Amino acid sequence: VINEVDDKEEEMVSRPPVITIMGHVDHGKTSLLDAIRDARVVAGEAGGITQHIGAYQVTTDGGSVLSFLDTPGHAAFTSMRSRGAQVTDIVVLVVAADDAVMPQTVEAIAHAKAAGVPMIVAINKIDRPAANPTKVRTDLLQHEVVVEAMSGDVQDVEVSAVTGQGLDQLLEAIALQAEILELKANPNRAAQGAVIEAQLDVGRGPVATVLVQKGTLRQGDIFVVGEQYGKVRALINDKGERVKEAGPSVPVEVLGLNGTPEAGDVLNVTETEAQAREIAEYREKAAKDKRAAAGAA
Ligand code: GDP
Repeated sequence: VINEVDDKEEEMVSRPPVITIMGHVDHGKTSLLDAIRDARVVAGEAGGITQHIGAYQVTTDGGSVLSFLDTPGHAAFTSMRSRGAQVTDIVVLVVAADDAVMPQTVEAIAHAKAAGVPMIVAINKIDRPAANPTKVRTDLLQHEVVVEAMSGDVQDVEVSAVTGQGLDQLLEAIALQAEILELKANPNRAAQGAVIEAQLDVGRGPVATVLVQKGTLRQGDIFVVGEQYGKVRALINDKGERVKEAGPSVPVEVLGLNGTPEAGDVLNVTETEAQAREIAEYREKAAKDKRAAAGAA
């Protein structure tokens, strides 16, 4: 662990929740992510053309800021966790109201429970004539998910990604869950974050979308991320704007890497470039040795 400091209680400041949408294929994860983003951009931000950087932030009518991971599917969630990056605070479990609890719904429930992350159930496609939300709620009981409508403590909201029905209620349900969690981070320390996605961009070189988890990442910061290192040349937010810094729960594109890291890699700001390079090279060698050992076995 690099630059690990004990954050004092008085330095901790509340931070936005990070939300992952999970559920069975075709139940509407992508549609819901798009609907939430589009609705809030039209409502809140003048002329904002959002960029797909793997995560985005919205502000609810009640003034809460929420950070959504824009990578639906369970692979992202599990691979990030297996690499040691636990970024999700709340899982929104999408179940289509005209379908039922399906294998990937059950898988999503298992992932959320294993990670100890609270769930909110979004019963989607409520606009469909065949919608039967009661069946969804009853089905969920068999998987030990007891929603509020069934006198349990898991919030459930009926939504439609197509008509927009229930989206505001869903966002407020998330904000309420976040309040209960009392999420906090110290913004005044060397930044630590997790790579959400990364690629080699023709014009810009290696680009990583990093979700800052602790501290504040700034232009000019020196960092190590997985087996790569660099110095922040530019930070770009989810609206495509250049920003000087990004605090806890804020997703930003980071430019200035020497290579392309992997999703789930952890970014740490270091004091010196020599330190960053040394750690990156050590990790690269360790990974190589491990591969060689695996090959020899
Ligand atoms: P994903 O695989 O979970 O990401 O599901 P998609 O977002 O790709 O949605 C699958 C299909 O369901 C698409 O054809 C969507 O247009 C449709 N769909 C998603 N949400 C709704 C909804 O709320 N109402 C209706 N009528 N169709 C929806």
